[in-house]
Amino acid sequence: KVTYDKSNIFFKIIRKESNANIVYENEHILCFKDIFPKAPVHILIIPKGHFKDIFDFSINATLEEKKAIYDGFAKVIKIFDLELDGCRIISNFGKHGRQEVPHLHFHLFGGEKIGKMVS
Ligand code: 5GP
Repeated sequence: KVTYDKSNIFFKIIRKESNANIVYENEHILCFKDIFPKAPVHILIIPKGHFKDIFDFSINATLEEKKAIYDGFAKVIKIFDLELDGCRIISNFGKHGRQEVPHLHFHLFGGEKIGKMVS
């Protein structure tokens, strides 16, 4: 069983105990601006459920929770008019993936040509 650390900042953002610039929200997900944007558009898409990382989510999330993530991608792509130019969506997992916040999140980068996939 995966242990979820409730002291992480995204846990507080979901509970509205900490502020975030929210661009879209529904029952299952929260989409908000990254505090240190690495592209003109840098949005974090997270489930509201307590999942540590993409592996935990892949094993333990319901189909509804999983679908909500894809719906979130579509919403953010539409909100920022990225349909034509595209964007990059990634999720860092664990030590080798250099994940810093232990609550699953997807980075969506857009608004300009994003750099090399791995440098
Ligand atoms: P990771 O390295 O875990 O994939 O990415 C964590 C991301 O969360 C980083 O891009 C970082 O800038 C962002 N971040 C960390 N703390 C906060 C915060 O308090 N608010 C927001 N909006 N983003 C944060």
